[in-house]
Amino acid sequence: MDVAFLGMGIMGSRMAARLAAAGHAVRVWNRTPEKAAALVEAGCSLAASPRRAAEGAQTVFTMLADPEALRQVAFGAQGFLDSMEPGTIWVDHSTVDPTTSRQMGANATNRGLRFLDIPVSGSSAAARDGKLVFFAGGEAADLEKVAPLLSAMGGRIVHAGPVGAGASVKLVNNAFLAQVQAAWSESLGLAHCLGLSDQIVHDAILPTHVAPAFLAFKRAKIEGREWAPEFPLKHALKDVRLALDAAREAGIVLHQLGASEELYAQAASQGWGDSDISSVHEVASRCRRQPAGPGPSSEPKPIDVSVIHEISSRG
Ligand code: NAP
Repeated sequence: MDVAFLGMGIMGSRMAARLAAAGHAVRVWNRTPEKAAALVEAGCSLAASPRRAAEGAQTVFTMLADPEALRQVAFGAQGFLDSMEPGTIWVDHSTVDPTTSRQMGANATNRGLRFLDIPVSGSSAAARDGKLVFFAGGEAADLEKVAPLLSAMGGRIVHAGPVGAGASVKLVNNAFLAQVQAAWSESLGLAHCLGLSDQIVHDAILPTHVAPAFLAFKRAKIEGREWAPEFPLKHALKDVRLALDAAREAGIVLHQLGASEELYAQAASQGWGDSDISSVHEVASRCRRQPAGPGPSSEPKPIDVSVIHEISSRG
């Protein structure tokens, strides 16, 4: 099938490669064309603009940073929306807010196009291996048409409801994810203040039911202080802010998410924006000593971890 894929970042480049490997004719475009070089080697053709990429495509995929990028690529001077043929389908995989998705859907419908918001769960490895999970919003008939294409990039498809519902599920997912990462790093900061290493806490807690599976994937990064981006922190901050905006629109207050936003904003301002989400650890895990209180001692005592070692080595 003739498809276009716009946005060759961490995720889009791997997803387009999966479509090409499955035998589809993929035309790619990226604002920074150099990043698409490997895709051309993999058999995709490189278009000079979003408009040119979408010409003649039966399905156009977008995987862009945020709502602003999406608007520019769709409606800008070389925007693709006006070059799509009536009846063809636009699938937006970017993580944006439901209001943006509904606006994109309305713009597509006004031009006689079909629109699905299908943000994804899974990071760079899942995109590379075709193991993404799809949260879909839109008409079931349209989803059925693109399902064979999605199957090249992932497995499970959750049809959450009308346009905007996929984006809603994704915001809930990422609001939770960002809080888990921040809470875990803060907890590791507490552990450090109590004289425990990251390693002993990982050994003790990751195999229990308390720990979400996602944390095990970040273990090596935290222990090695290695923050190469799988999911860039700047996008986590973007998603936290989109979720807070959606909550405000709905008239509810999310206190813990607000606290997470502060941590991610601080991390971004200290230069961690292009690093992995787990680099929030650099800010959240700092052992901030309180002034001496009336308690027996203000100094944390090192804990004898040999007992924990002994128990964990028994399995
Ligand atoms: P990324 O590597 O930062 O890629 C972002 C893409 O958006 C690049 O192609 C970039 O082009 C493009 N872009 C940014 N601003 C633009 C603008 N103003 N005009 C045109 N293009 C613009 O991010 P990613 O990790 O692939 O993520 C893409 C989307 O998927 C985001 O919404 C993210 O939240 C979501 N997501 C990411 C993950 C993950 O684990 N990485 C997982 C699920 C969902 P340039 O190359 O020219 O900068």
